[in-house]
Amino acid sequence: MSENRNVRVRFAPSPTGALHIGGAHTALFNWLWARRCDGTFILRIEDTDAERSTAEYEGTIKEGLKWLGLDWDEGPDTGGSFGPYRQSERMDLYRKYAEQLLDAGFAYREDGAVIFKTPAGVGLVLEDAIYGDIRIQSEKASVSQDGSVKDIVIMKRDGMPTYNYAVVVDDHAMEVNWVIRGEDHISNTPKQMLLYRALGWEMPRFAHLPMILGKDKKKLSKRHGATSVFEYNDMGYLPDSVFNFLALLGWSPGGGVEIFGRDEAVKSFELSKVIKKPAVFDMDKLNFVNQEHLKTMDPAAKKKIVEPFWAELGLEPQKHSDRYLMDALTLMGARGRTTKELAEFSDYFVDFGPVKERYDASDITPEHRAALKKFFAEFMSVPNWESSAMEAFARNWCEANGASLKEVALPLRWALTGRKVSPGVFEVARLLGRDDCRMRLRYFGFVD
Ligand code: GLU
Repeated sequence: MSENRNVRVRFAPSPTGALHIGGAHTALFNWLWARRCDGTFILRIEDTDAERSTAEYEGTIKEGLKWLGLDWDEGPDTGGSFGPYRQSERMDLYRKYAEQLLDAGFAYREDGAVIFKTPAGVGLVLEDAIYGDIRIQSEKASVSQDGSVKDIVIMKRDGMPTYNYAVVVDDHAMEVNWVIRGEDHISNTPKQMLLYRALGWEMPRFAHLPMILGKDKKKLSKRHGATSVFEYNDMGYLPDSVFNFLALLGWSPGGGVEIFGRDEAVKSFELSKVIKKPAVFDMDKLNFVNQEHLKTMDPAAKKKIVEPFWAELGLEPQKHSDRYLMDALTLMGARGRTTKELAEFSDYFVDFGPVKERYDASDITPEHRAALKKFFAEFMSVPNWESSAMEAFARNWCEANGASLKEVALPLRWALTGRKVSPGVFEVARLLGRDDCRMRLRYFGFVD
């Protein structure tokens, strides 16, 4: 990878909103490339729109990146030798190079603004690492609505630099050598190339990432559901899963592998393997990925992440021991696509309250109830409160009494969990413990 030494990439969000899916996707691919090449990942805050930029948004963007595990090496607060890392603090640089362009005759002043003269007859080749070579004539780089060549404003009347200009000055000054960003910026790149040319600077390599579409093939937007990465946290998706899922939007490690962690992604990531076809944001896929990550999560971590969701349901997991809660989650296995679902599906382990609310025994006939009372009277005194012993007892009892196992197991599940589906009911009974089971069965009138 000799050509990719000292890779310096940046994620350059405008702090005018939370970290949305598109931004997180861009940040993630930059991060992957930096880590893959042992390079540097820079966070640069593009806050030249003073009216819409806020410190709060900068904060939520940083929190979002941290949540996804995308750590940056240089940035505001973090520091680095190429700061400051907020554009609003770099005004001197923009003024300086604007003067240079004016002095060299590449730009002129008009109404207080500084305007770059778009040259004619320059053949530009954007060698995009993902989209391939894109050829464009300079006079087509910036055009008015009527198709005529349009000069490029670099400093606005209010003294602020425009995006296309500030990005070039900063990428150069910060020695960014790979610009990886959304496909929606492809149309800006030729303008930026003209500025590099006029300033006599070496250009970075460019890689434009495929756009992300909703399942309806329309550009991803609020209509498609959550947009901020934190909303996925609230919905019960793990950061590892969102990371994995976002990486799959346009890339995969090959060999049919779809589930991977950060380290595996870093090891196999290749920018040249990113597909230029638009990627589809598919919730079913996210659910699948999340479920797979939940499956392999260790019980202690799982407990920690499910606890707030239990609390959200009004339950008090702190009433139980860590061991008990971890055992409950282990028993739940792969049930639940999200941590939120997992918390819901396992609520009966935490509290009997939800069972009472759900339970409805109207389909149990008086005869069935009488038989169940006989069964439970004996069941409660099974010598060994182990699932295998309980099951063996239940099987024997059913055989001796001409009943099917279902006739006792389903009402037992109902009374203990208030659910038709659960892990093996004798396993559930074992974990709840004999006393809790007796209390539940008594509440519903099955034992005295
Ligand atoms: N601030 C720009 C944006 O958020 C950065 C684009 C770029 O990476 O050049 O779209």
